[in-house]
Amino acid sequence: MLQESISNYAYSGTEGRVRKLINSLHVGILVFNSQEEVLFSNKFAHAMLGLSEKQLRKKVPYHPDWSVIYEDGTPFSCEMNPVLVSLKTQKPVTNLIVGVNRPLTNDRAWLLVNTEPIFTDSGEVSEIVCSFSDITERKAVEDKLTSLYQSLESRAFDLACSNADLERFVYVATHDLQEPLRLITSFLQLLKKKYDCQLDDQAIEYINYAVDGSKRIKNLILDLLEYSKFSIDRDGFKVLDSAKVLADVQTNLFTLLKQNNAIIDVKPLPVVYADPSLLHQLFKNLLTNAVKYRSESTPRIIIDCAEQADNYLFSVSDNGIGIEPGYSEKIFDLFQRLHKDQTFEGTGVGLAICEKIVRLHRGSIWVESEPGEGSTFYFTIPKNNNGK
Ligand code: ADP
Repeated sequence: MLQESISNYAYSGTEGRVRKLINSLHVGILVFNSQEEVLFSNKFAHAMLGLSEKQLRKKVPYHPDWSVIYEDGTPFSCEMNPVLVSLKTQKPVTNLIVGVNRPLTNDRAWLLVNTEPIFTDSGEVSEIVCSFSDITERKAVEDKLTSLYQSLESRAFDLACSNADLERFVYVATHDLQEPLRLITSFLQLLKKKYDCQLDDQAIEYINYAVDGSKRIKNLILDLLEYSKFSIDRDGFKVLDSAKVLADVQTNLFTLLKQNNAIIDVKPLPVVYADPSLLHQLFKNLLTNAVKYRSESTPRIIIDCAEQADNYLFSVSDNGIGIEPGYSEKIFDLFQRLHKDQTFEGTGVGLAICEKIVRLHRGSIWVESEPGEGSTFYFTIPKNNNGK
């Protein structure tokens, strides 16, 4: 009953509702006969291909006007034409992407093509219905994404090359420079030992300066190696309890903290997605500095964390000597120090390592400080830091 009313509906009216329905589709339809010629085309096909019904009639699917191409731009071979394939194999062809030339606008349309054979009662193919949808815009977006991806890939390759160059440079700096440096130091010490009685006080003083200088260069080289060691390994990232990492650091720094009678106040800390050894190093450097740059008073260090919309905001506050205004950014650069070696030993690599570690976690680090009052180092770890 229902079947009957549907077919009545479809075939009623002068033009026939089926034709109206087919013309209202946002899908192009071309029906080819077994001689491979267009028998019927709907309105969307006319608009899409820029050809009238008359122009399309009897056109063969491999007509040079179409100038059909594959997705990669190579010309379509005649025997691979989906209409011919369906005619030959008596099977449908599905979801084939092709580009066709539009003579009217002289541009290319991208089509997602399907063909379906229609059979006579005796089982021969009488027609091929070729339906296609317009994917020109989608293809343009995909092409843009592909080209973006390719340029990202090529940048990643360039970066990998320059990283490899840097690693080689660090290797040369650490291994090859250390040997001549050792030579300079030992010959200076030999000079001092052998000619001790012949040299006056000033000459001895100069030799001591030179030996100190070469020792400093050695420390700088070793710290450069240390800095370059911290690199990203996304496989090392895991869900971890930052309070546990901090407790390990405190155990590690037990002697330093004890010697300085440091009072550590740890507030509740969150579970984060981070690299445990990098987070360990970050806390270690900040805690060490908080004690190292202490004032006359007993060091009091507070480690806290505030939850923000997208980040965990950690803070490490001390009551130490503080930092002069104007230096709060510079101290995160490699080998930047505010103090002479005589006052506080160091090479200025600790905070550069902290900056690098936080950057590898896609967070940021900064300091707020008041000279004589203490400093608070802040750093963020993104919440959805899944490392991808
Ligand atoms: P280093 O301690 O070897 O000098 P860092 O990179 O750890 O290297 O620190 C850079 C500079 O930042 C230090 O020389 C010091 O002047 C300053 N600084 C770092 N931490 C603190 C702190 N908690 N309080 C005051 N000054 C600090």
